Amino acid sequence: MEEDWKPKVDMIFDSFEDAWKFWVDYGGKVGFGVRKQYTHHNKSGSIATCRFVCCKEGLRKPDKRDYKTINARPETKTGCKARLGLKNLCGKLIVHDFIEEHNHILHLQETTHMLSSQRKVSEVQCHQIDVADDAGLQQRKTFDLMSKQVGDSFKWLFEKFLEAHKQKTPQTVFTNQDQAMMKALAEVMPGAYHGLCTWHLMQNGIKYLGNLMKGKSHFLTDFQKCMYGYEDEEKFEEGWRTLLAKFDVEENAWLQRMYTMKEKWAYCHMKKTFSLGMRSTQISESVNAEIKGFTNVNLDIIKFFKRFEDVGEEKRYNELKCEYEARQKIPKLKNIYSNILKQVSELYTPTIFDIFQKG
Ligand SMILES: [Zn+2]
Repeated sequence: MEEDWKPKVDMIFDSFEDAWKFWVDYGGKVGFGVRKQYTHHNKSGSIATCRFVCCKEGLRKPDKRDYKTINARPETKTGCKARLGLKNLCGKLIVHDFIEEHNHILHLQETTHMLSSQRKVSEVQCHQIDVADDAGLQQRKTFDLMSKQVGDSFKWLFEKFLEAHKQKTPQTVFTNQDQAMMKALAEVMPGAYHGLCTWHLMQNGIKYLGNLMKGKSHFLTDFQKCMYGYEDEEKFEEGWRTLLAKFDVEENAWLQRMYTMKEKWAYCHMKKTFSLGMRSTQISESVNAEIKGFTNVNLDIIKFFKRFEDVGEEKRYNELKCEYEARQKIPKLKNIYSNILKQVSELYTPTIFDIFQKG
């Protein structure tokens, strides 16, 4: 079977970004980290040639003094030769060189699981995992199964959402970078623009790159600038490159992944979308706050739906109550001879009419 996610010689990409994203995704599927080895520009400024490699390419320079404090990891380079070479072809990029073999073990599933950090697994599911584990099922497979279940739940949720809104797809949806949720969203609402909640993004940044944020480090500030600070794409690209170089994090898998999703969080890309200036899940957070204790971010999905139902129930009840009162009570008019007031009183609910009459 043809695998369209696998690089092939003569494959053509519209842009450098497309080619890079393809390599990042391929690395994620096969199980290796990626890095750009070089990009050469021609006189007109467009890319003439470039080469993407495995993050285990080359051998680390032993004399890099500050290495340990920035990247507290053991030696990882193996001089791996896997690579993807591209060159310019009429403004596009064509693959002219692809080496598939790695000289090290690929951590396919393990890596993927470590990357998808936002897996939602409840206590019950953890118990199920233990049981399955006892039964001799591989833990990885069990996690996959759980993950699929969560994904299906999201799919169901989004479908119900559309049903409730007469199949009207929202223009913009913000999520917290949950893999399963993203996948379900793309499937159920392909037309919706998917933004990432900047607050959650920051939290993840702290989680993955916390070591760069201690003391007087300005990583967070620079990162935030990439989120909000750049009006146009070129400035953003420049800012991003500077950030990676400044903190020596070109190889950081999380940042590489964030970069492939820049359309979902960088202001220069977001400004084209309809979001009324929102950049986060603030609306839902404020609904959440309507119930005491709802602000707990560790809430599992079952509890979430239970509470979500409660809020909905309360709102529906209030609406019914208003409806009832509107039918039951005839509002007192300030001026009983005013036909306008009388007409309006039949149109508005008593509460709204009161506001109208006072105004
Ligand atoms: Zn490799």
